[in-house]
Amino acid sequence: MRVVIACVIVILSVAAALGIAQNQNVFSSLSGRQEPTVAASTPAPTPTVRAASSSPVQTVSTVSAVNPVASANAAAAPESPTPASPNPPAPQPAVPAAAAMPAPAAAPGSAVPPPQAVAQATMAAAPAPAPAIAAAPAHTCPGNPNALGVSRTVEIDTTGGPGFGFEHFKQHDFLKPGEVVLTFDDGPWIHNTPLVLAALAHHCVKATFFPIGKHATYYPEILRQVAAAGHTIGSHTWSHQNLNKKGMSVEDAKTEIEMGISAVHLAVGASTAPFFRFPALQHPPELVTYLGERNIAIFSTDLDSFDFKIRKPDQILKSVLDKLKKNGKGIVLMHDFQHGTAEAIGTLLDQLKLNGYQVVHMRAKAPLQSLSKYDEMVIKEQKLPTVSGRPTADVVKTVEQ
Ligand SMILES: [Zn+2]
Repeated sequence: MRVVIACVIVILSVAAALGIAQNQNVFSSLSGRQEPTVAASTPAPTPTVRAASSSPVQTVSTVSAVNPVASANAAAAPESPTPASPNPPAPQPAVPAAAAMPAPAAAPGSAVPPPQAVAQATMAAAPAPAPAIAAAPAHTCPGNPNALGVSRTVEIDTTGGPGFGFEHFKQHDFLKPGEVVLTFDDGPWIHNTPLVLAALAHHCVKATFFPIGKHATYYPEILRQVAAAGHTIGSHTWSHQNLNKKGMSVEDAKTEIEMGISAVHLAVGASTAPFFRFPALQHPPELVTYLGERNIAIFSTDLDSFDFKIRKPDQILKSVLDKLKKNGKGIVLMHDFQHGTAEAIGTLLDQLKLNGYQVVHMRAKAPLQSLSKYDEMVIKEQKLPTVSGRPTADVVKTVEQ
């Protein structure tokens, strides 16, 4: 009998132990589902200084944002500035694709105000918040019942230098399916930038521009038209050097970045956005850190149009539309410097509308301050400034031919 009782006790004990073990397994697997592990989150291939957990992007407007005044300014852009476009001493494009560019016409006059005057105006200007954009439905776009308009405006908090563009950064996926951000690099440039501005104005859409500092000193009045049309202006270095190239010191690279910022500020005559794009999308880690410390957001791209290689307008169009179709959305990289893009952009915007895409406009939460040391370096690059800020077209007139 004792043996039987002992056997029953042993059997019961083993069964109880198995039951507890099973329950423990259930709890551990439950807790595994409820608490994602650290390893489950994919680290960004190019880390930035800002913590990945906080979102720097806020939607500030979900209606179409159209500024009739700015649009009117932009619409007038191709007519007024082009004939009077400046011809500062043979502007040398800072990018290799320049070989394909039409050479700036040898105009007798120059509309470039003396850099000192521009600089003084800039220094005097208090840092202004981003201009308010009057909201209106896209169908109110003057002269274009089929305008794209802006479906949503987002405000980006650049604190800590967040990175955007899935080609290099994976932190902030703020676009919904069908949404497109238009970005244009390497301007401002004669003929091409005004053509891009006119096409954008025709569709009442807003874009983000990443101008080259040197080009901004050649054509400041064109960059001011970009600003007046309500587009967002970042920067893209002083002379478009690859900051990752061998032999470039971190200090020289910082000078390239900061002189680019200063030149854009001086040309626009007001604060611009703390948005930066590295030339050739090369991101040296020390400079990613530096931009983080300067609270400047870094923009790579989701879709590279490769317009600087393709050149032909119909093929640029196909390149962008095919990639958008594949990705469904994205930050698109184009160049207002490229003639092919200037030719293609009108049809591209028509096609975006036809295919149901929606344009998102990015703007910065706070403006970027340039550094006076680099402002002075840019000013020194200019020659013999005078007090007069009048354009040459007003100073010198042809009275007999
Ligand atoms: Zn570029």
